[in-house]
Amino acid sequence: MINLILFGPPGSGKGTQAAYLVEKYNLVHISTGDLFRYEMGNDTPLGQQAKAYISKGELVPDEVTIGMLHNKVLAHPDAGGFIFDGFPRTILQAEALDRLLEEEGSVVHVLIALNVDDEEIVKRIKLRGATSGRADDLDENIIRNRIEVYKNETTPVYDYYDQQGKSHMVDGIGSIDDIFNRLCAIIDTVGDNAMLTAQEEKK
Ligand code: AMP
Repeated sequence: MINLILFGPPGSGKGTQAAYLVEKYNLVHISTGDLFRYEMGNDTPLGQQAKAYISKGELVPDEVTIGMLHNKVLAHPDAGGFIFDGFPRTILQAEALDRLLEEEGSVVHVLIALNVDDEEIVKRIKLRGATSGRADDLDENIIRNRIEVYKNETTPVYDYYDQQGKSHMVDGIGSIDDIFNRLCAIIDTVGDNAMLTAQEEKK
């Protein structure tokens, strides 16, 4: 069982890598961005509420996001672990996630951040915007605001888990395969350590 936070700025490749990691490690992928887009696509009250923030590149309020994430985790009681993609984005969300997993008898095992510089991010998101159908991928001002929000509100989450000795940074530039291998190297080490600890505790 491994719970992984895939971290990094918008456009750093979290979604792409999560799709491969899910296959290899048999995890449940939860992307709060995807969940919001699903709600917006169905024009639900939650979707309408989220749209006001997403369209400006701002964060959806914590209580809304945490409630949605909570339901999604509880909907998978038999999961062999989770990949959290785009969550947590604030310290409050991180604390809520820790509490939720504790109630389930588990923990966040590792956070891995994909490191990509600002100009590369803007380039990638604009390229994605041509096909993603996402309004927040098309406007450069919104893209830059999302990067600012990441720096101001989200990067403290890296330090929060770093204080627990769980944060790692990998170079997010390179081929999909190369980046995947960098992620797997960390996950395999963390997985081995978790298994050894569990065996020790059994003795
Ligand atoms: P993403 O697909 O992860 O880039 O998310 C797209 C947008 O959804 C973000 O710019 C936010 O407006 C919103 N969003 C996604 N995840 C969260 C979160 N954990 N907290 C607050 N807002 C979020």
